[in-house]
Amino acid sequence: MSATPTTPSGPPKKVNRIGLEILPYKGSKTTLCAGCGHNAISERVVECFYELGVQPWTVAKFSGIGCSSKSPAYFLGLSHGFNGVHGRMPAIATGAMLANRNLLGLGVTGDGDTASIGIGQFMHLVRRNLPMIYVIENNGVYGLTKGQFSATADLGSTLKSGAPNDLPPFDCCALGLKWGATFVARSFSGDKKQLQAILKTAISHHGLSIIDVISPCVTFNDHEGSTKSYSYMKEHEEALHELDYVPFYEDISVEIPEGAVTEVQMHDGSRLRIRKLDRDFDPTDRLAALAALEESEKKGEVLTGVLYVNTQKPTFLELLNLPDAALATLPESAVRPSKDILDQVMEELR
Ligand code: SF4
Repeated sequence: MSATPTTPSGPPKKVNRIGLEILPYKGSKTTLCAGCGHNAISERVVECFYELGVQPWTVAKFSGIGCSSKSPAYFLGLSHGFNGVHGRMPAIATGAMLANRNLLGLGVTGDGDTASIGIGQFMHLVRRNLPMIYVIENNGVYGLTKGQFSATADLGSTLKSGAPNDLPPFDCCALGLKWGATFVARSFSGDKKQLQAILKTAISHHGLSIIDVISPCVTFNDHEGSTKSYSYMKEHEEALHELDYVPFYEDISVEIPEGAVTEVQMHDGSRLRIRKLDRDFDPTDRLAALAALEESEKKGEVLTGVLYVNTQKPTFLELLNLPDAALATLPESAVRPSKDILDQVMEELR
């Protein structure tokens, strides 16, 4: 007697525009503390790359050292990944992006990794405008070594023990603006909608995208006296605008009333629609962005949104005049001078 054939049951699996389910965009199970802001950022990365239909194997993840730098293990499990030494992720990312310009670079770092030991590397990454996304998971403390203040901790904020911070903070967004960054944004790990719009815009940006995300450390810096806690952010977050990202493959049929929305066209044809809230703010005006940060700092507010975007500045890879094909895929004959040429050079140097 032959077995009765079974017919598949249940609703069809949900896939994105390239036919992938969400699973290939996920990573391994997090080992960070429950409630850590970094976990929420990992979830946003999974959603954004899935929703935009980015091929996960075209992404290269980079990180340094710290709780934040463990995060790339928890998303995009099919992507390339390199966990570097403390503060040196930009150098590794620069080498990798030079070797294969067709990769989509995604760096994840912390305030310790970027604003202390890695500040010099961060500075040169910005100066070069290396095309990659650079997410700073900023909680104001070194979580991995039991919660000492980092260089982004606000003056007068306190440790769990009550000890105050006597040093002024580095504002990574303000530093990025001063050093010539082409995309600078700040968000809060608890602001799902805004962080998604910012991450998606960064994926479309042609240049370095700095995203400073206030990401509370629930174990060492979520108490009264902290300015990087969930409750402080709920009370002091000041959104500059409402953001709406429209990917290049989506048609927009809705007419926008003039003056209500500013639209920024990204390199790949996607659009960032910026709806003003209670202030006029032009995200293409770098000096206005610096002034807004300065003003919010004085008021004790945390300004979030897209602070600055410049779609015109050439990237480091363009300045180097690299070929379209990835260097890593070219034959040795195309990337190395021949023996005859080297002999000629040696002869000239004698
Ligand atoms: Fe997150 Fe802090 Fe725990 Fe590290 S120590 S995983 S930063 S909550």
